[in-house]
Amino acid sequence: MNSLSPPSGVAQPQSSTSSATRGLHVITWGCQMNVYDSERMSDVLRPLGYRAVGTPDDADMIILNTCHIRDRAAEKVFSELGRLRKVKEARAERGEGTVLAVAGCVAQAEGGEILARAPYVDIVLGPQTYHRLPEMVARAARAAGAVIETDFPVEQKFDFLPADREAPVGGAAFLTIQEGCDKFCSFCVVPYTRGAESSRPAQAVIAEARRLVAAGVREITLLGQNVNAYHGDGPDARTWGLTRLARVLADEVGIERIRYTTSHPRDMEDDLIAAHRDLPQLMPFLHLPVQSGSDRVLAAMNRGHTADEYRALVGRLRDARPDLALSSDFIVGHPGETDADFADTMRLINDIGFAQAYSFKYSSRPGTPAAGAAMHVAEDVKDARLQELQAVLRVQQDAFNDATVGVTAPVLFTGHGRKPGQVSGKSPWLQAVNVDGPDSLIGRIANVDIRHRYTNSLGGVLTEETDRA
Ligand code: SF4
Repeated sequence: MNSLSPPSGVAQPQSSTSSATRGLHVITWGCQMNVYDSERMSDVLRPLGYRAVGTPDDADMIILNTCHIRDRAAEKVFSELGRLRKVKEARAERGEGTVLAVAGCVAQAEGGEILARAPYVDIVLGPQTYHRLPEMVARAARAAGAVIETDFPVEQKFDFLPADREAPVGGAAFLTIQEGCDKFCSFCVVPYTRGAESSRPAQAVIAEARRLVAAGVREITLLGQNVNAYHGDGPDARTWGLTRLARVLADEVGIERIRYTTSHPRDMEDDLIAAHRDLPQLMPFLHLPVQSGSDRVLAAMNRGHTADEYRALVGRLRDARPDLALSSDFIVGHPGETDADFADTMRLINDIGFAQAYSFKYSSRPGTPAAGAAMHVAEDVKDARLQELQAVLRVQQDAFNDATVGVTAPVLFTGHGRKPGQVSGKSPWLQAVNVDGPDSLIGRIANVDIRHRYTNSLGGVLTEETDRA
């Protein structure tokens, strides 16, 4: 931690005994891990009196939780900070102080640069340090200077989370069990911004899961950058893998639906594949990124497996759970990718058949090995490849969704639909499903006859004997 220029117009935090409330506005970019981190930052600030407000104009504290995966991530952060500076100045003219904090992976990677270019920022904190946020707010309020905290401390931030996490609405919650990554894929900043792989102790995960279930949660998505590399300390002094943890969460904690993301093919062990056969609580949807179908590119990416090994892995998963739907990430135009490499990727997509996918053009991340690689692919070539790939993935997604029309599926209703009188939920295969139904269904699981496939959702009707709540 170090102190730079003094913060301007910093709001004074309330003491933990104060009943006064202050506005908190968190802007979250990026992955589900960031969504989870934003929720936890709100949790640790609650004892200081901070409560969520819908707009930065009403916020005594604004947190911008950033993502380094985004294209030109740092520039987008500075552009957003320019907007927030105006909000802060307008509030100052009204005599209202504002703490402005930047969190997440861009904060981790570019902390010093942020304070140099945006001195009106009061706090910069990396993903490992948000449990220290109350202390940082207090330091900023004492006008001790802008606070920057981007170490990778020895202690786990998990250990410092408040137990009274706000109850999620809608019966579904995320739960981070693992952070960081040691895989060092050529294109990725995560090992540099989130640090080495570390796993939360099983007992702490179980305790948080019990609280979530008591608060009405039916489905938990276990999160980690490399979630299936989970290796947490167990209460029996042994190391637990993801399979053992999932079995306890299902059988002893009583979670009805379990998902986990994001997985690496190299960490897909036999016991986890078997769990997809034996554990009905494991939902039949798996995000298992392959990135490319070319062995040459996979090697250049340092992915540690071949395209055929991925095909064989998917075959074993589908043997274990025949209705398993798969999703993946794809990067087109990695440095050195030829037409033949891209054709290999298209062949793999056609061989597997994906229910969903996220696809991107390769773009350099400063400090990663691929950024300095030779043979960068021309933008127009990347554009053309991405379009071709996305067209095929769209056809596959539509075909998968078409195949669920006519099926009766249990849907967990998580919120309102777009149209009045509608509720919206998730199928076991992570499809959005909308039906006409009462608000009382939110947070409950009910059977739905799937009748229609739309561009990004399904429509259906509730069956008669639906409610399993
Ligand atoms: S395994 Fe995932 S998080 Fe780790 S370096 Fe590769 S892409 Fe990044």
